[in-house]
Amino acid sequence: MTMQFDRIALIGIGLIGSSIAHDIKRLGLAKEVIVATRSADTLKRAEELRLGDRYTTSSSEAVKDADLVIVSVPVGASESVAKEVASNLKVGAIVTDVGSTKASVIAQMQPHMPPHVHFIPGHPLAGTEKSGPDAGFAGLFEGRWCIFTPIAGTDETALKRLRRFWEALGSKVDEMDPEHHDKVLAIVSHLPHIIAYNIVGTADDLEAVTESEVIKYSASGFRDFTRLAASDPTMWRDVCLHNKDAILEMLARFSEDLAYLQRAIRWGEGDKIFDLFTRTRAIRRSIIQAGQDVDAPDFGRPHPLEKKA
Ligand code: NAP
Repeated sequence: MTMQFDRIALIGIGLIGSSIAHDIKRLGLAKEVIVATRSADTLKRAEELRLGDRYTTSSSEAVKDADLVIVSVPVGASESVAKEVASNLKVGAIVTDVGSTKASVIAQMQPHMPPHVHFIPGHPLAGTEKSGPDAGFAGLFEGRWCIFTPIAGTDETALKRLRRFWEALGSKVDEMDPEHHDKVLAIVSHLPHIIAYNIVGTADDLEAVTESEVIKYSASGFRDFTRLAASDPTMWRDVCLHNKDAILEMLARFSEDLAYLQRAIRWGEGDKIFDLFTRTRAIRRSIIQAGQDVDAPDFGRPHPLEKKA
């Protein structure tokens, strides 16, 4: 793989930042990587994991002379990071982010970006329920989409350079306008997380009544929700607050559809229930055909005899 940038600054080194760091190193995409994070503890861990070449708790220090700056912090922290780095950004630098919401990140960062940099908002659709620098791994973005939501008038050469970077990480790159991104992500990612947080919360409230049967019998469906509901509370609080309109719109649709299903169950309308469940099964097949998941039963979890082998 060819070197793409002299100096890359990674602002935020949690799951996403550290996964990017692993890939930059593995693929030799930069001469030097500077890692910045706000806490000394996280910085120390990043250093122990050898995620960069230089380390600092000052993001404004980190971006000096960087050709590419990647901001990987909770979306609610975007504005403070933009303010902090703005005056030290190099002429011609590409500044991007990985935030899960886009209209809000643009509103927070764009006003602080000096005219001599290329600000290109982005969002890799890849992740796990883990967070922090230990959670990252090489190859996280392989075969996954990365969505850019470029601002009108963005320099084409800068866009191509950033596209080439994400493609080197194995991603497929798409472009959308930020509002559309936020609607699409509200249904494919934000709502599933909110529903998972909610159902696990409901079960938790019931737990006193059922005396930990929820935990004991969790393999029957509930367990799959707990993976999503174990995701980072700060990140997901910020997603809820910063994609409020799209999430509320999708939640309203969801509640209507749930009422329809509730009614069908109440009135014993088996055909309606069966039709819905048949339609949803086909969606799972389409996801597998599109290469977005593997066709292993139970998400490929090893079963007791396989574990012993
Ligand atoms: P993470 O593992 O929790 O790491 C967060 C990083 O941001 C850490 O370096 C943390 O620094 C720093 N940070 C936290 N609060 C901050 C603040 N108020 N100001 C400045 N820095 C702060 O998070 P992540 O999962 O990598 O997520 C990072 C971004 O990627 C988020 O915007 C998220 O929406 C997006 N994203 C996440 C996923 C996913 O599945 N997790 C997928 C795609 C996109 P300290 O530890 O030093 O405090």
